[in-house]
Amino acid sequence: MTNITNTPAQHFPTGTVLGYPRIGRNRELKRALEQYWRGDSSLDALEAVHAEVRQARRNALADAGFARDDASIPEDASTYDHVLDTLLAVGAVPERFADAIGEEPLTLDDAFLLARGDATHPALEMTKWFDTNYHYLVPEISPSTPFRYANRDRARQVTEAGAAGFNTRPTIVGPVTFLALAKAADGVPADFAPLQRLDDLLPVYVEWLADLAEAGAQWVQLDESALVSQVLGIDERTLSDAALHAYSVLSNAPQRPALFVSTAYATLPDTAFNALELAGVDAIGFDLVRGSVPAPARASNVPLVAGVIDGHNIWRGDLDAAFAKLESLQQSGANVHASTSTSLFHVPHTLADETEALSPQLRSWLAFADEKARQIATLAAGLAQGRDAIAAELDAATTALEDRRSADGVHLPSVAERVAQVTDADLQREPFAVREAAQSASLNLPVLPTTTIGSFPQTPTIRRARRDFVRGDIDRAAYEEFLRDEVREVITLQHNIGLDVLVHGEPERNDMVQYFAENLEGFATTANGWVQSYGSRCTRPSILWGDVERTAPITVPWSQYAQSLSDAPVKGMLTGPVTILAWSFVRDDQPLEQTANQVALALRDEVRDLEAAGIRIIQVDEPALRELLPLERDRHDDYLRWSVNAFRLATAGVAIETQIHTHLCYSEFGEIIAAIDGLDADVTSIEAARSRMEVIEDLADHDYPRGVGPGVWDIHSPRVPDSAEIAGLLEAATDLIPANRLWVNPDCGLKTRGYEETTASLQHLVAATLAAREAL
Ligand code: GLN
Ligand code: ZN
Repeated sequence: MTNITNTPAQHFPTGTVLGYPRIGRNRELKRALEQYWRGDSSLDALEAVHAEVRQARRNALADAGFARDDASIPEDASTYDHVLDTLLAVGAVPERFADAIGEEPLTLDDAFLLARGDATHPALEMTKWFDTNYHYLVPEISPSTPFRYANRDRARQVTEAGAAGFNTRPTIVGPVTFLALAKAADGVPADFAPLQRLDDLLPVYVEWLADLAEAGAQWVQLDESALVSQVLGIDERTLSDAALHAYSVLSNAPQRPALFVSTAYATLPDTAFNALELAGVDAIGFDLVRGSVPAPARASNVPLVAGVIDGHNIWRGDLDAAFAKLESLQQSGANVHASTSTSLFHVPHTLADETEALSPQLRSWLAFADEKARQIATLAAGLAQGRDAIAAELDAATTALEDRRSADGVHLPSVAERVAQVTDADLQREPFAVREAAQSASLNLPVLPTTTIGSFPQTPTIRRARRDFVRGDIDRAAYEEFLRDEVREVITLQHNIGLDVLVHGEPERNDMVQYFAENLEGFATTANGWVQSYGSRCTRPSILWGDVERTAPITVPWSQYAQSLSDAPVKGMLTGPVTILAWSFVRDDQPLEQTANQVALALRDEVRDLEAAGIRIIQVDEPALRELLPLERDRHDDYLRWSVNAFRLATAGVAIETQIHTHLCYSEFGEIIAAIDGLDADVTSIEAARSRMEVIEDLADHDYPRGVGPGVWDIHSPRVPDSAEIAGLLEAATDLIPANRLWVNPDCGLKTRGYEETTASLQHLVAATLAAREAL
């Protein structure tokens, strides 16, 4: 293919980051969003805050050593989600929103309606972005979804940057990835796939590129991480053919910036690399932390943007080894540029905000976004001036790494020994049939038992009490008294509503992982280490830096207190080993399996202590089981083996009468269905409301033999389902799963909901269940 370059050749900057945290160093954007949604501020006020956040991001990267004028600074801000931004830009409004959203340009309010839904429009689904803990909004594409250039925010941001003296690099989701991550809209022919709409979509990208060039962008970054994933249900050939076609069209666009196609999270396959090169893109990025160099890259003339600094974890890492990867590419004659392996929006802003929370020693082992940007600036200097120019920085990182290897607590011989002594017998319970009989005799629950997933609303009062306690304004006794009052109220509420299996409501937990991290050895927690999870929601992952040990019971007093208030069973509530790993920043100096087993043994002790304290049902949440599934198929068996074993190690130490529940937060199982079976939990609750029970077809097809609680209330938005809607979902469920195996529960925990909607929704849930029992 002949390639016409329609723009003057541009040098790709020597170093860059694929993206930067978006929510603001002090979560300014989160606050502004929530204020606006509450009706306490105007759209203009929200946009003013976002403009400040955008400028602060550019300034932070300039301070880290990035030039203002060479497109090394990405323009990748997002008000809610970058897939949603792309949906808005290409005007792909799902037809079910057509009555509410139409007029161009599409606005932020349109975006919020898509993301959050309203009484008549359930929100777009969310799902995890590759193998990360970030959720994106899933576009719904049909054969007739409109595509038109309908929102020019990104181009406007480039202009805004220009006015502030910056030439930034607009970053957008590429057309292949946009369609590959979309789902087919409901009711389309079974053989329809969104990627079939590529030719309809490309003209919109052509128009978008022209607008970005017009706004002054020299480079544009198109994220095509779909090309590295083997778990999207699209084969490699189809993806690389789509890339070849798409980028042949885009590189021939009449007016465009230079095209940088970035990929992240796993190895870029050779076929995809070849396709991008053949299509004439101007730079290709790939992940050298999770992945390896595509073979054809070494012989290529295309500028290579090598992702050698981990964008997805917080370790300072081996800077010397990162530089060596760049040198090795340079020596093979390639035109090499340094970058992070992924966008930095997976890590917090800066270690400068952690001087109180983290020890100087731990800090010396870490790098957050600003520190990683500085590492990139160092590597870029090394590429430009040679290794000697950065020798001091490389040595300093190596010294920190050596210190980390031998520091107290990183390796505890007693912990390693206990893990080594685990045998297969530790992972086995009696057969389910035996357990089922024993449990139904001892628990004596009605058919279609009703329950919740664990948390009740985390009210401003709870958050204030926690803050007062952390600050030392109230003492532990007063705080615990307050929490006991909360537990009592939550138990009373559940009694009044008529639920069968109760929970204590988790008021003592700031977060389902951090709470355990704070109570186990081997973890540290940050003061301000927030990362975006979705929209305005942020989490503060803990740092798992050393061997894990439980020194005392963690949840037992709370569960025991709650159980003392009720004759109904109260579920004990723990977070599973895989989820604790997935939602923390995990040490990178030993196999994940080893770390998972350490956590599992700590939980095993907790499970046994709960049982001994009279708790008859124990739920161990594993919502992240699927999220850690490697994007490469040949790594699946190994991952599923150790992750399932870790769950079993945590849970298999109990008597047959003790009922083990698990909870998973998603609605597509696909190939992990065997693993879910392998967990051997007596009851599994799953998200199912948004997908209208589609999910349990998988379980039914698999003849899943144990209890299932498909969610009948989508808790991701404030919408209250009425009894008829819940009854409809229950009916769909009873068609697929025998009623004596079915539980009735919401999709997930209620911590983000308010009491009003919680009470109403749970009342409807119980009413629908009572009616369904009558009808059986
Ligand atoms: N037990 C947790 C809760 O209810 C589960 C949350 C989750 O699955 N993410 O909050
Ligand atoms: Zn959940």
